[in-house]
Amino acid sequence: MSRYLDERFCALLPYVPGEQPRDRKYLKLNTNESPYPPSPRALEAAAEAARTLQLYSDPQCTLLREKLAALYGLRPENVICSNGSDEILDFAFAVFCGPSRPAVFPDITYGFYRVFAKKYGVPFREIPLRDDLSVDPADYETNGATVFLANPNAPTGLALGREAIERILRANPDRVVVIDEAYADFSGGSAAPLIADYENLLVTGTFSKSRSMAGARLGFGLASPALIGDLERIRYSTNPYNVNAMTMAAGIGALEDEAYTRANCRAIAENRDFLQSELKKLGFTVTDSKANFVFAAHPDFDGARIFAALRERGILVRRWDEPRIRSYNRITVGTREQMNVLLAAVREILEEMK
Ligand code: PMP
Repeated sequence: MSRYLDERFCALLPYVPGEQPRDRKYLKLNTNESPYPPSPRALEAAAEAARTLQLYSDPQCTLLREKLAALYGLRPENVICSNGSDEILDFAFAVFCGPSRPAVFPDITYGFYRVFAKKYGVPFREIPLRDDLSVDPADYETNGATVFLANPNAPTGLALGREAIERILRANPDRVVVIDEAYADFSGGSAAPLIADYENLLVTGTFSKSRSMAGARLGFGLASPALIGDLERIRYSTNPYNVNAMTMAAGIGALEDEAYTRANCRAIAENRDFLQSELKKLGFTVTDSKANFVFAAHPDFDGARIFAALRERGILVRRWDEPRIRSYNRITVGTREQMNVLLAAVREILEEMK
């Protein structure tokens, strides 16, 4: 830290991304990336766009917003695009929270919410999940705060139904409710249809998971035109060209190949259910994940030791040294072959640890 850093940022603890090591070849099951490459249409479109990189990208993301609006049954005025969905979440903390608009989110959720709150000096409260790690919607009904909920939640994978979300929206007419749907394509349920009835709903989505484009950085927000206008205000005050031309073209290409995305999501959901049931047979406790990852703990073996033993075998998963979830590992769902490699390693490790 230099002596020039403003004191507002001295206590900021930045988000720690999952590791992306280059020292050897790993089976990477630690950052919820897709095991499949992007759609061929996305790749072709990106290559084509590269030919005209001397030009700025379309700051309005016109065609991309039209395609997203069509996918969700909305209008382009309901859509904003961003450099990953992290950017929309950042914007939401910037414009919908402040000293008199605190934020609430679960104690166990996406770690970036806490970082954004601190970055903007937003007061926040972390509401404990139930003992079974699920969200109690009643906890979000009387807060007077801007609500941030990942649905499915991370790293538990547990999802709330649309009725629960509607209850939260109804109870908070004067505050924005942000539903972070980074993993919603693996469960089939989006809250986007509620946008017509609730002007306080902001849904965020990403191309990083279901559309295999984590490295392209493309996210979006869906909301009433009024909320989108507020987010555009901060986007145009930050970087109107936040979505680069190759990424924008790739995103449009991906949306023209929805069959590819749907097939991949189906395969991942099947592999997730397979992995969950195999881990249960080995004695693991697993949450009922609706995402592209599995959250598993073994009652007899230490989560950190399982993590380390997998790493030694070249398999990366993710864990957090936080009291309530210390025994768990989060495993990204990959291809069936990858899941079999992982399971073989887990069987060996449990045998050795006995
Ligand atoms: N929300 C949640 C719950 C996530 O796990 C992630 C991925 N780390 C994101 C948002 C952000 O993803 P991206 O910026 O790649 O769209």
